[in-house]
Order: sequence, then C-alpha cells, then structure tokens
Amino acid sequence: MNPRAQQPAPDHIASYYAASSLPQPELPALKGEVLADVCVVGGGFSGLNTALELAERGLSVVLLEAHRIGWGASGRNGGQLIRGVGHGLDQFTNIIGVEGVRQMKLMGLEAVEIVRQRVEHFQIPCDLTWGYCDLANKPRDLEGFAEDAEELRSLGYRYETRLLQANEMHTVVGSTRYVGGLIDMGSGHLHPLNLALGEASAAQRLGVQLFEHSAVTRIDYGPEIKVHAAEGSVRAKTLVLGCNAYLNDLNPELSGKVLPAGSYIIATEPLSEEQAHALLPQNMAVCDQRVALDYYRLSADRRLLFGGACHYSGRDPKDIAAYMRPKMLEVFPQLSAVKIDYQWGGMIGIGANRLPQIGRLKDQPNVYYAQAYSGHGVNATHLAGKLLAEAISGQHSGGFDLFAKVPHITFPGGKHLRSPLLALGMLWHRFKELV
Ligand SMILES: Cc1cc2nc3c(=O)[nH]c(=O)nc-3n(C[C@H](O)[C@H](O)[C@H](O)COP(=O)(O)OP(=O)(O)OC[C@H]3O[C@@H](n4cnc5c(N)ncnc54)[C@H](O)[C@@H]3O)c2cc1C
Repeated sequence: MNPRAQQPAPDHIASYYAASSLPQPELPALKGEVLADVCVVGGGFSGLNTALELAERGLSVVLLEAHRIGWGASGRNGGQLIRGVGHGLDQFTNIIGVEGVRQMKLMGLEAVEIVRQRVEHFQIPCDLTWGYCDLANKPRDLEGFAEDAEELRSLGYRYETRLLQANEMHTVVGSTRYVGGLIDMGSGHLHPLNLALGEASAAQRLGVQLFEHSAVTRIDYGPEIKVHAAEGSVRAKTLVLGCNAYLNDLNPELSGKVLPAGSYIIATEPLSEEQAHALLPQNMAVCDQRVALDYYRLSADRRLLFGGACHYSGRDPKDIAAYMRPKMLEVFPQLSAVKIDYQWGGMIGIGANRLPQIGRLKDQPNVYYAQAYSGHGVNATHLAGKLLAEAISGQHSGGFDLFAKVPHITFPGGKHLRSPLLALGMLWHRFKELV
C-alpha cells in the first residue's frame, strides 16, 4: 500500500471514495420520538432517492441510517452507471405480458436518465462521465451484444451504440483479452459516494430529516408503524426498507430473498496521462461478461479502479489487494510496478431471478421495500425510489405494479446455508464458462 494515500472520512470503510469525498458533516443520531408520514430505513441510493422523491411530492420523511450516509454498497461500488434493470427480462412474459416486459426494459433506460437529471438538477459534483463498453470474452458474447444493440434500437434508445470487432478493441481498452465490445454512450461512470452525499443534501433541503448512527433495532408493525433505534423512535404511517444486502435480521422475510455477495475493488496510485490513456483511451467504464466479472474504469484523478469477484462465503479475502492485483495484471500486465493505494469491498444483494425486488409486504400493506439489484444498482435504485414514491403517494404510473407482480423466492437453507448453496450454484456456472 502506498503510504501517501489519503485517509478516508471517519466511519466509512477505507475506500478511495471515502478518501476523496465531498465534506460530509456528521448528522445527528435519532433521539426522542419523531413523527412523519414516511420512515425510510437505509441511507444508500434506495433510501435516499425514495426520501427525495417523497419530499418532492410533499410528504414528511424521516430517514434512519445505521452508520453514515453512503456507508453501504452505494458509497463503495464500481461507480458504473449502466443502462438496464435485471437480466433476461423476457423470462417474466408469462407474469407481466409482452407489453409489461417492454415497459420494464424502457424503465431500465429511464433509470439512467433519473441519475442524469438528479446530477444536473441538484448540481452534484460526482465526476459524471459518459461512455461505457461491454467487453466480449468469447465470440458468443459478441452475438449477444448484437442482439442487445438491436433491442436498444427497437426501444428507441437515443444514445450512440456501436459494436466493435476484435481488431477495434484497442480504441477502448489497452488489453488483448477481448474479442469484441459494445459501446454505449448513454451509460457511464461517476463517484458514487459523492452522488449519495449530494442526494442527501438535496433531500435535506427538501425537508427530509436525516439521522446517522441510528440503527433500527425493532419495528412495531400495524396501521401506524413504530420504528425503534437505540435512543429514539419514529412513528409513521408508512415504512420503507432500503437496506438491501445489509438488512440482516431486521426483516427475515425480506432478507431471505437476498443473498449478500462480497465484491472487491482496488485503486491504483494516480497514473500519468499517457499511462491512463493507454489503458482506457476513451475514458469509458467497462465490464467483461464472466459470472465473476472484471469491472474497471478511471477515476477523475486518473487512478485505475479495478473491481471484481463475487464471494458468497460471507468472508472477505484477508488481503484484498493481494487477491485483486493478479486479476488486474492479467488484464494490464503493464501495471506491475504501479502501487495500490486503496482496497475495499462491499456487499451486493443478489436475488434468485436477478430482477430488483420492488414491492410491499403482503401482510403489511404500509411497508414498502426495494432491494436485490444484483450488482447493477446505481441506476436501478434511482428507479426504485421513484416507483416507491409514486406508489406511496397514490400516484400510480403502473411501473410499481409491474415490479410488485413478479414473485421472488426465498433462498433455501436459511441464514447460514443459503450462501454456501449459492456458491455451489455459481461454481457450476463458472464451470460452464470454461467448457
Ligand atoms: C463492491 C461493489 C461494486 C459495485 N459496483 C456497481 C457498479 O459499478 N454499478 C452498479 O450499478 N452497481 C454496483 N454495485 C451495486 C450497487 O452499489 C448497489 O446495488 C446499490 O448501491 C444498492 O443501494 P441500496 O441503497 O439499496 O443499498 P446500500 O447502499 O447497501 O445501503 C443500505 C444501507 O442500509 C443501512 N442499514 C442496514 N440495516 C440498517 C438498520 N437496521 N438501520 C438503519 N440502517 C440500516 C446500511 O448501513 C446501508 O448504508 C456494486 C456493489 C458493490 C458492493
């Protein structure tokens, strides 16, 4: 590790983002009893965007975060803002129909637009940069990209997309590993913690009461909800749970539908302009197509942020840099002498069918939730916030109902066995990649 790396903001994990974030004034912990129309639990993108959208619709909102705003996946992720929600949406045709699937696909495009508008409207300094490329590991991936490009055209996608053959890949990435790509100028990358902080301060300006260090320990359900933290409580008509992979035992029904999976990122020391240009000449974010994918991009100060892996064991690698650096060097052997300044990980919430779970509890119709974005949540959380706020404020657009209609299974094996079971399933998928 480079001793010159900056120190992270207190109470965040030691990520590059925490070390380069906007000033983050400490928010109070909840004390005493507070009343609100809606209580939101979770200070990541899901919670913040739901709160913001509710406040814009005139509701009074209290948001409780166990640690700091953006402490979870929202403040630690790869920062890749990529079009689309879920995976293989056609599998839901028998539940929501052909038109329902088409609407969901359109919402997957709208999700990025919500982030674009949020950043523009609230002038959030989060280094938003446009340009993204899917990287093909095999010719089969490239066939899939051609279908994706065709589908985007049929949906009226208004940004440039372009298929690249193997001999054109050097224009996007300085590595010989890939056999093709799909450029998408309507997707891109950003500093996720700064986006979360900008959204938190926008929410505050709209009247949302935000509390940090206020872990919710108990919920009394009923027509009026009472939410308890260590030194205070909130009474509200409606509750929103936006805790994703960090929900744990707060609501076992919902956490049983999400598998927490660890993903890890390293950040190099700042590179020279020439070095950075040689790696990613167009400064795009990129992802390959494997189950345990590599995803990487440059930061605004020209570090390579290289992420990957998917751990279901619940245990982080002892030394994340030692674990991730060989993966980076497989792609870019030319970085062998470059120092790693930061290493960190976070929990992705995986659902069995890979569709974000956006809905309300069957037995508690005043309890809403959004979770399980399966590693593709920077955009989808913003869509979820809008859909939840529409449903809660009685402003139905139909989008919430489409998501809520899709059933989500509870993973077998209970709290302790479900991760090992999934690990076995993923091993099978990786094995299939090799044959
Ligand atoms: C390493 C990594 C890389 C990723 N890369 C990308 C990427 O490049 N692009 C992409 O689209 N997606 C990516 N993702 C996924 C994306 O970050 C998530 O889908 C998204 O941030 C989820 O947001 P969230 O608000 O639902 O959850 P989180 O951001 O995890 O927030 C949940 C919050 O709930 C709080 N909480 C939990 N329990 C309680 C409680 N009892 N009381 C109060 N608060 C509580 C937690 O403290 C946490 O802050 C990545 C995820 C990880 C971990």
